[in-house]
Amino acid sequence: MTPDPLNAITSEHVAQVRERLLAWYQTSHRDLPWRQTRDPYRILVSEIMLQQTQAERVVPKYHQFLSRFPSVHSLAAATPGEVIRAWAGLGYNRRAVSLLRAAQVIVERHGGQLPRDRSTLERLPGVGRYTSGAVLCFAFGEDVGFWDTNIARVLHRVFVGPELPARRLSPRQLDALVERLVPRGRGYEWNQALIELGAVQCTARRPACPTCPLQTCCRAFPEIQALLGALPHGTRLKRESSFTGSTRYYRGRLLEYLRQAPDGDGLDLLALGQRLRQNFSPEHLPWLRQLVDDLARDGLVLAEERPGYDAADPRSVRVRLP
Ligand code: SF4
Repeated sequence: MTPDPLNAITSEHVAQVRERLLAWYQTSHRDLPWRQTRDPYRILVSEIMLQQTQAERVVPKYHQFLSRFPSVHSLAAATPGEVIRAWAGLGYNRRAVSLLRAAQVIVERHGGQLPRDRSTLERLPGVGRYTSGAVLCFAFGEDVGFWDTNIARVLHRVFVGPELPARRLSPRQLDALVERLVPRGRGYEWNQALIELGAVQCTARRPACPTCPLQTCCRAFPEIQALLGALPHGTRLKRESSFTGSTRYYRGRLLEYLRQAPDGDGLDLLALGQRLRQNFSPEHLPWLRQLVDDLARDGLVLAEERPGYDAADPRSVRVRLP
């Protein structure tokens, strides 16, 4: 049986990492607006926005969104179309609809207060294990552990070594590791520090090992340093995947055209197709219909067939925000 790599992590190693990371965080962290509040609604909004969008892009949208929907009650009373419009620029628009539904559940079933226990939080739309942990920790000050791909990468490198497939920690191992690492009474700073290190220092594509506070206690440091040193200047460890032309790209563009459509009246399939593809032709119609149907299933658009609907006529379907 392969030995569990977690058993090889000593208390001294954990203590050293905690001390250095917390000291670095105190002097070096970015001044982000969700770090200046403990308001559970604001923390929830920021965490949903941060799920798949970088902090720098989230900051202006976070302010705009909260001035449009300053409380969980104001959000719960909004229409999906209003929330999807306010989500412009953040991408992964399904999160907007989930956040709206979560606000409605909070108002209808929890008297407008975010639940304080993890399993109830995880029953809210769009809230998974990571977000429930983040809300408990950042809003309610609980010393809980949670991880996403960024935290997992940092912990793997520091405590196990470079993230090679043969060595990769399982979700169960990561759950156990994050719980073990949280220093009692300092969960807030600890989790923020891990997030910060993964965002600015120990990035997936180009970790900045030479200036890292954990350099001397990181198991991956020697190998990553050697690898980066052998690569031409500026080379990244991972290549960026192509976004343009992906389904996500077309979903985002389609919603953007609907946001811009006057009076919330929407656009027919022909107008949408011509905006999405310069060479739009009847052969693209099944592709476009599929794109619209998937968005409709996610609650992001409404597709209405006009009287005398003809599947071959793209003008006979009108698409708008809900
Ligand atoms: S030394 Fe390099 S690999 Fe290790 S935590 Fe720091 S940036 Fe990441």
